[in-house]
Amino acid sequence: MICYNCGIELTNENKTAEHIPAKNLYAGQPAEVKQNLLTVPACFDCNNKFSNIDSEIRDIIGISNDSLTENQVISEKAAKSLLRQIALLRLVMVAFMKQSVVRLKIVLSVT
Ligand SMILES: [Zn+2]
Repeated sequence: MICYNCGIELTNENKTAEHIPAKNLYAGQPAEVKQNLLTVPACFDCNNKFSNIDSEIRDIIGISNDSLTENQVISEKAAKSLLRQIALLRLVMVAFMKQSVVRLKIVLSVT
């Protein structure tokens, strides 16, 4: 058996099942809906390589949801995910601004 994406031979150590569509799109659905989901054989690296894309698709669906009942769990997960990204972006921006101030002080010879 080979990986659907990269074509390497799968072993017991690297064999996973990639859900098509992504399993996270079924969040909040009843258990009977999650049974017998379609999967393809994938190596561990390929299965994880696209998990960010799966999350981004879930987030787009979640924030596009205009119903309070349908896909509520996906909307909640999308909101948490986006808030984490905003918090991370804020940390990166603050670190960048502090570093820029240090550089400016050096360039301008300001203490
Ligand atoms: Zn692969």
